[in-house]
Amino acid sequence: MTEDFVQNSDIQTLLDRAAGVDAEGGDKRLKAITRDLVEAIMRVIVRHDISESEFWAAIKFFQDGAGQLGLIVPGVGLEHFMDLYMDAKDAEAGKSGGTPRTIEGPLYVEGAPLVDGDANLSDDPDDTGTLYMTGQIKGPDGKPVQDAILHVWHANSQGFYSHFDPTREQTPFNNRRRLKIGSDGRYSFHSKMPNGYSVPPGGAADVLMKALGRHGNRPAHVHFFVEAPNYRTLTTQINFGDDPFAADDFAFATREGLLPVPNRQGDSAYIAFDFTLQKADDVEEASFSTRFRAAA
Ligand code: FE
Repeated sequence: MTEDFVQNSDIQTLLDRAAGVDAEGGDKRLKAITRDLVEAIMRVIVRHDISESEFWAAIKFFQDGAGQLGLIVPGVGLEHFMDLYMDAKDAEAGKSGGTPRTIEGPLYVEGAPLVDGDANLSDDPDDTGTLYMTGQIKGPDGKPVQDAILHVWHANSQGFYSHFDPTREQTPFNNRRRLKIGSDGRYSFHSKMPNGYSVPPGGAADVLMKALGRHGNRPAHVHFFVEAPNYRTLTTQINFGDDPFAADDFAFATREGLLPVPNRQGDSAYIAFDFTLQKADDVEEASFSTRFRAAA
């Protein structure tokens, strides 16, 4: 059978009714998106002749794995696709330049301590070296951005994030800070060295990656939001350019321009990295996306 099957009038009527296209109330945009999404799934079912057993196995996978959608979405490339799509729209609108965006991931926590000066991000002991990062936050003209706040978060040496640590051994906001940046735009912080991590073994993301013949590993990295009045809020991260997974990140976050190679001295590492922000055209551009984020 071919995908034309989905075009038959019974199924097209079913789609209209299921998406509430003919119904009075509801949200027009959501109706249109729901209709297209369900139709796309129907087409995939026909194209691959998906059996009843396979269909329900997929539904069960998402039911049981719902808590890991934050890892499955980057794992299958959809979170990176959103970056590529926003980049392409920016290019069309003439908004290119600056530090590349890359995926946020699911592990940011709102409310980290706001600190200034040379900051220490780590509250907990960790049997590893120290990461030192320095740099400047600049505008498109190369001048320092005023009143910037740099949000930083990263894993510990076990690859675990505070708030999401399965061992529950980390203090809230360990390796998480908001850095208040002075008028020279310069930042500096140090912290216990992050390590790369893998998705939780045996979880839905791991099961999917293995079934695809892939792995669920990320290189060591540090996440950032950079916000400042009248500038576009930047979501990005640096990945350690010398990490074995730098060229093979399961989450596709390792973009060109975001892979500094640390200067390693003993068990310490030094990274110099500048951020260049784009000017915001309006308040919305200067704001964070409304993605749900954990708060503590
Ligand atoms: Fe991360």
